[in-house]
Amino acid sequence: MKSRPRRTATSGSLALLALLVAGEVAARTGPVASAEPCEVVGASGSEEAADGRPEPTRPTARPAVPEAGAGSDELGPAADESRARQACETARERFAELFGEPVPPVRILLWDRPGYRTGLQGERAAVVWPTSRVMAARAKSAEAALPYVESQWNDVLPHEISHALLAARFFADERSGRHTGYGTPLPDWLDEGVAIWAETPRNRDARLRQARALPAERRDLLSILEMRHPGAGATAEAIRNGAAPPPDEALWAFYPQSIAALAFVYDAGGADAIAELMRRLLAAPVDASRPDPPSARDLLVDLPGLPDDFEGVVAAWNAWLAAEDPGVATAP
Ligand SMILES: [Zn+2]
Repeated sequence: MKSRPRRTATSGSLALLALLVAGEVAARTGPVASAEPCEVVGASGSEEAADGRPEPTRPTARPAVPEAGAGSDELGPAADESRARQACETARERFAELFGEPVPPVRILLWDRPGYRTGLQGERAAVVWPTSRVMAARAKSAEAALPYVESQWNDVLPHEISHALLAARFFADERSGRHTGYGTPLPDWLDEGVAIWAETPRNRDARLRQARALPAERRDLLSILEMRHPGAGATAEAIRNGAAPPPDEALWAFYPQSIAALAFVYDAGGADAIAELMRRLLAAPVDASRPDPPSARDLLVDLPGLPDDFEGVVAAWNAWLAAEDPGVATAP
């Protein structure tokens, strides 16, 4: 049994990322105050940078029509920027479904390096993300490259953007090191569940099926609500740097557990239940009448759509998990 890694990597790397993104973006485009919802900054290897011109904001009377067939390049910079924008739009839509407006703006900086970083730039969610070419080079085989790259853009990037959106929306004024959560001060299951919420319906459904198939002890609601992220610390750091997740059963189970807990709450009471859950979590540290954060046991009790005692919530959870087709409302 390995000792639990220290849980400081995420918040520490947020500050690092903020400097990194601010430095790189300022150096290449100048300080831009605009906050378009999805801003994508191409990698230095992109066509715009390669020809040596400063990238002008060209007012195009006629939008360039992408060439079909011979002219297109599935792994090229133009396709990357469009995929990044698509991932951003998906993540922001899914985030709004849970939390409503405002959804913070997002900046994605593409780089020619493996691994990624997430964090905040001011009140904006920021992600530094590898190009398709770099990701393809890390696939196990040439045949595996394209499906691998597609899933990185369609599942992993919206997932990582959502982690950053959560921090940007609710914790933009937090200083690093103030909390011990995985990505934010929120419970780890919620942080992870919100990120998985932005993955493709196919991925989410697969994870929910996995959740229902977990052994009984891993389906225990209170354990899930109290759990620390098994991947926190050194493991998360290694994954961000491009390593494959280790074959750790608790880590693999945590993703299905997290999305199942979130989907359970959302199925019971929709966005109203999520809003009340957030009110309880965010009120705790500053509300003098509630000096202690709500216990995991109290957290879901009497949320919209859920029973008013813990035993009832557990019974509802077990029934929801056992339902053959629980009608999970996570598909768009
Ligand atoms: Zn995650």
